[in-house]
Amino acid sequence: MSDKNLIKKLQLFRQDLHKNPELSGKEIKTQKRIIDFLSNLNPDKIFKNIGGYGVAYIFDSGNNGPIVLFRADMDALPITEANNIDYISTNKGVAHLCGHDGHTAVLCGVANMVDTYRPVIGKLVILFQPAEETGAGAELVIKDKKFEEIKPDCAFGFHNLPGYQKNTCFIRYGTFSSASTGVIIKLKGLSSHAAYPEDGNNPDKCLAELINEFNSISTQNRYDDFVLVTVIHAKLGEVAFGTTPGDATIMLTIRSYLNRDMDNLIQNINSTLDQVCKKHKINHQINFTEHFPANRSDEYCVNLVKESANTCNIDTIELDNAFRWSEDFGHFASNFKSAFFGIGSGLDHPQLHNENYDFPDEIIATSIKIFFEIYKNLLIKNG
Ligand SMILES: [Zn+2]
Ligand SMILES: [Zn+2]
Repeated sequence: MSDKNLIKKLQLFRQDLHKNPELSGKEIKTQKRIIDFLSNLNPDKIFKNIGGYGVAYIFDSGNNGPIVLFRADMDALPITEANNIDYISTNKGVAHLCGHDGHTAVLCGVANMVDTYRPVIGKLVILFQPAEETGAGAELVIKDKKFEEIKPDCAFGFHNLPGYQKNTCFIRYGTFSSASTGVIIKLKGLSSHAAYPEDGNNPDKCLAELINEFNSISTQNRYDDFVLVTVIHAKLGEVAFGTTPGDATIMLTIRSYLNRDMDNLIQNINSTLDQVCKKHKINHQINFTEHFPANRSDEYCVNLVKESANTCNIDTIELDNAFRWSEDFGHFASNFKSAFFGIGSGLDHPQLHNENYDFPDEIIATSIKIFFEIYKNLLIKNG
């Protein structure tokens, strides 16, 4: 198949995925669509249902050499799309507004090319990973028994970047995107009649003090790099005019560029919570959810991305700062030598998770070229 035909086919496939989005952990039909689309290929192995509805294609040279993993995410978001396109989402309230439809199409393109130009050494694993948006998928894949066989020596992933020059490659040594964790705090006092608040213990002052304290935690001088605390939700009692509240909830999203700063931040939140609750005689419970480790790239792997983009005459820019958002590729980056890179979606392109966002098909070819060049460098040229 000519390159042009392949790109056209991938665009249509991408639009088909866009029309049929599925939420994190529910990508059952998406997995099937990928398998159907790649049904003409002859990989040496396919692992279905890895880490949920993930699927991995293994191209094995049969010779010694590195295991290289390329990863695309495949889940959509619980947002209603507001685009005026003929392939608009048909799954109500769910839409591909982060471009994971495009990421999947790109790695389907790479799979097509690798099927023709087989590895000479080692193995290539092309992983379509579920549940990225909730931070659950990468970890589930890594913990899946089937993954034992394909633990990579190097792993590569990418994200499209609205607000950045179209078809430019963006790299960063060290952290590419932040660690983040959701924090759920429940406060328990004692409710009473609203006419007799003194007979209960209203957690209102404790809640107010905690919000203030949490908002100032990130400005304290105890961190090595950027940290951020965002209070995303707070609730006190019920709407009942006859009752003094007895409980409250507060939720935070906390972020950091470094994993050790995340550990410090959690410690500080815990000690602030203990102190303030003790003062107000309020019981508390703390839980964490949607944990993303910092997405830190390895120097050797970043150099490979850079050289590969250069070989393909693709402009490459080194980012000054890491992104504040998180990527669950951080789980791969924490366990294996990895690099994560960005491909610009265009300066004026609607932002990720925006109801008007749609993956730009014009960046499919550029993204494939970089992955294919990395592949050639690691599993063909060195053979
Ligand atoms: Zn997203
Ligand atoms: Zn995304």
